[in-house]
Amino acid sequence: MIDTSRTVAPMPCERPPAGFPADLLPLLGLPAPDDLTDAQAAGRACVWGGGPLTLATAVDLGEHEHNGVRIFPQSCSPCIAAQAYRALAPHSVDCAPCHDRDHWRDCPTGGALHRLRVDALRQPGGTCPRDAR
Ligand SMILES: [Zn+2]
Ligand SMILES: [Zn+2]
Repeated sequence: MIDTSRTVAPMPCERPPAGFPADLLPLLGLPAPDDLTDAQAAGRACVWGGGPLTLATAVDLGEHEHNGVRIFPQSCSPCIAAQAYRALAPHSVDCAPCHDRDHWRDCPTGGALHRLRVDALRQPGGTCPRDAR
């Protein structure tokens, strides 16, 4: 039984993920909220690698609600690039445009994941351990 009385009142303005395509998020496989440390849930540490984040390097993954608690997952650039790359493979298995060198950019998902990866790779590196990516 979920205790809805603990639901937090909506913030005056919901933060849209700045520059991050929210519809890609389900493909990237965010870790389970219960597995996050306090720092990860608050966006102070990378949600995937756990390295400390600074405003300059953090990728905002939007605001999420879990059991009435708001979490603010953020990622470092290398981790988001790695996750985007990982998400491309299972997607492209069943996607015809993604198999075609001349047309994969036409795929909204494949093209967006690729752009996300390329943009992230241009950003300064994070502090996550390499094997966490
Ligand atoms: Zn990271
Ligand atoms: Zn595709």
